[in-house]
Amino acid sequence: MTEADDAERLFLGTTAGEATYREALDRAVEAVVDAADRERPFSGRSPDALDALLDDGPVLPEEGVGLDAALDEVAERVLPHTVNVADERTAAHLHCPPMVPGLAAEVLLSATNQSLDSFDQSGAATLVERRVVDALADLFDLPDGADGVVTGGGTESNFQGLLLARNRYCADRFGRDVQSSGLPLAAKRLRVLCSEEAHFTAEQAAAHLGLGENAVVTVPTDDDRRMDPSALDATIADLRDRDHEPFALVGTAGTTDFGAIDPLDDLADRAADHDLWFHVDAAFGGALALGDERDRLAGVERADSLAVDFHKLFYQPISCGAFLVRDGAAFAHAARNAEYLNPADAAAPNLVQKSTRTTRRFDALKPYVAFRALGRERLAALVETTLDTADDAAALLADADDFDLLADPSLNTVVFRYRPDEDLTAGELDRFTRAVREALFNAGRAVVARTEVDGVAALKLTLMNPRTTLDDVAAVLDAIRDCARTVTAVRREVTA
Ligand SMILES: *Cc1c(COP(=O)(O)O)cnc(C)c1O
Repeated sequence: MTEADDAERLFLGTTAGEATYREALDRAVEAVVDAADRERPFSGRSPDALDALLDDGPVLPEEGVGLDAALDEVAERVLPHTVNVADERTAAHLHCPPMVPGLAAEVLLSATNQSLDSFDQSGAATLVERRVVDALADLFDLPDGADGVVTGGGTESNFQGLLLARNRYCADRFGRDVQSSGLPLAAKRLRVLCSEEAHFTAEQAAAHLGLGENAVVTVPTDDDRRMDPSALDATIADLRDRDHEPFALVGTAGTTDFGAIDPLDDLADRAADHDLWFHVDAAFGGALALGDERDRLAGVERADSLAVDFHKLFYQPISCGAFLVRDGAAFAHAARNAEYLNPADAAAPNLVQKSTRTTRRFDALKPYVAFRALGRERLAALVETTLDTADDAAALLADADDFDLLADPSLNTVVFRYRPDEDLTAGELDRFTRAVREALFNAGRAVVARTEVDGVAALKLTLMNPRTTLDDVAAVLDAIRDCARTVTAVRREVTA
């Protein structure tokens, strides 16, 4: 085969390329369908066993094996040993089964390969993204003038919120343009406030922003793990006394473990009183805005910026998130003009100055197709189904003699422990719970998460799949019981 043949066959735009594309996609679709139809959520193979399985010839051979063979290898060796997100018993993380409208959109956006940094690499795609951003701003009742950009997820959105917050504060307070001149000396006094249950990306962002993780001050939470507004008042007063300068308040709408939603209205009041940028991390709970429980997000419309993940409860394939700002002009705090992408005199809508990235996928097409295809009510119903399943699962756990439910669900996570029939110290219970969760994963019968409550390991179900029923949950609990018995037997043998 000559180079010219390859160029004809490997790219769209010719009859030969089109044939290659159709065949390869048919093969890929078959592989996906087979992989979704497996008996267990995970094969349970160890990292070493998987490495050995893949260790069959160099990744980059002198001569390739051909596309059919390469795809078949993936279908045989890789996909069967990935975690099956389609399985009803995959219930560990905020890791959703992607819906078909998003999967179809993924085909369209990858093949057309638009880049959203400039209009001259994207055309209509840029306008679709702007419309998705506008629809999302409407969903959260942000005022006219709100704007946003599609991101890779909550990590990037939270970073961007704190980036704009820091630059805004330094400009107003110190007359410092951090973008051009770097941090002022006073930067060591800057502080970010969030609840003690907030996502670790607040600290990560503070580190990336040159403030250090210790610049994040956590505020105690109430019994429902929501930020306590009076504790926030006390924390702010204490920081002021010590000459620290809080500049941003992060409210969480849906903490990762317990789904707790901070009292956003109360937080917005404090942010207004103390000149704090109010960023709401709604990566998990933002989808409540679709349905009847939207009142639980009251105050979100007062946010200066907002993180929402489409790849969680909006059921879109990874990666897909959005960052919104109440006032689009705020993007100027971190914008730049590159002569080749968005010259200052350009009339075209170039999105590059709204993003922390340059080349950027047309991920907006996934929520666009899903929104248009299903509409708000059907999207809301999917989310509500999972909230109901979580409530039912919690009731099942509360009724069982051999499980302890550790909190009533707020969203669709359920945190609990298996209770062995002998008295264990906190340390023993911690080791036992870890061992049970590991045995479960290795057996491949269910994928549940491990977290920590009061310093002791606990188990967590994150019931993302709208197809998961209470019977599936019961099957997961039975699998946990079996693994707990095995772990107990091993423990007794060791201590005997
Ligand atoms: C998932 C999550 C994040 C991180 O988002 P990614 O999409 O994984 O980057 C941040 N905050 C919360 C509350 C989350 O649930």
